Amino acid sequence: MIKSITDSAVLNNGVEIPWLGFGVFLSPPGGTTYDSVRTALDCGYRHIDTAMIYENEADVGKAIKDSGIPREEIFVTTKVWNDDIRSDNTLKAFDTSRKLLQLDVIDLYLVHWPVQGKYIKAYQALEKLYREGKVRAIGVSNFLVHHLEYLLPRIEVQPVINQVEWHPWLQHPELVSFCRTNRIQLEAWAPLIQGHGAEIPVLKKIGDKYGKSWAQVLIRWDMQREVVTIPKSNTPSRIKENSQVFDFELNAEDMAAINALDENKHVADDPEYFDF
Ligand code: NDP
Repeated sequence: MIKSITDSAVLNNGVEIPWLGFGVFLSPPGGTTYDSVRTALDCGYRHIDTAMIYENEADVGKAIKDSGIPREEIFVTTKVWNDDIRSDNTLKAFDTSRKLLQLDVIDLYLVHWPVQGKYIKAYQALEKLYREGKVRAIGVSNFLVHHLEYLLPRIEVQPVINQVEWHPWLQHPELVSFCRTNRIQLEAWAPLIQGHGAEIPVLKKIGDKYGKSWAQVLIRWDMQREVVTIPKSNTPSRIKENSQVFDFELNAEDMAAINALDENKHVADDPEYFDF
């Protein structure tokens, strides 16, 4: 059972990533992101998920630095954006991210989207960074089974993670089993269904039994499904609420009720059809 905010999944290269992280997509650059990350660190989160395209890496970096928490205690993920993947600019983009984050070594660097015809080359750039010790782990995001099937025979360093939209409405059973077989850890983006969890009565009903909110139920469900999860909030009370998920465990019946909500329904872009 996952019992604390620093409990971690062990990735296929031995690196550990806390099961619970803090996401900053659509977290406005500047004071808002800075304050939210400081609040998250104060609440005990030790894993932050950003990306070049979020335009808030500098604020994440400053918040981490100012927190005074030893660098090695915080796991930081960032991602190479599609424009840089398209123009074979991954290595340069990495240097920019690293400078903005004020970090010598990034814990996890991801290919943000499987840009057709380009993602192998981008991933090979990540392999170079990995071999040079500039990243502790490399992986992918928004890769479906067919993207992984194409990628894996063409690379040398197995991705440690696939970060995808994952929540009760979109449980990707084939992807889950493919990733498990290939020792690729699944990581959930939009774990709170970008706020739509509030519309699912059974989550509230389950939460009431444990004295927890629907959001806490969703985060706990992720962890019990062995999925790394990175809920985002810019609201201090919610940042704290989302961290308080280690003092209860959903029983088998509740897990089954949530598992039964799968509709193969996206609330954001589908990697099969994205065009950005
Ligand atoms: P989430 O599912 O985390 O939902 C965030 C929304 O939920 C915000 O509107 C937030 O509001 C609200 N919220 C947060 N906590 C609560 C709560 N306790 N009660 C009620 N509402 C709440 O969506 P994201 O899309 O942000 O996904 C999480 C992270 O995943 C991102 O921040 C990013 O790091 C990553 N991501 C990665 C992608 C990829 O392509 N790899 C794509 C999208 C996201 P408020 O902030 O106002 O409190």
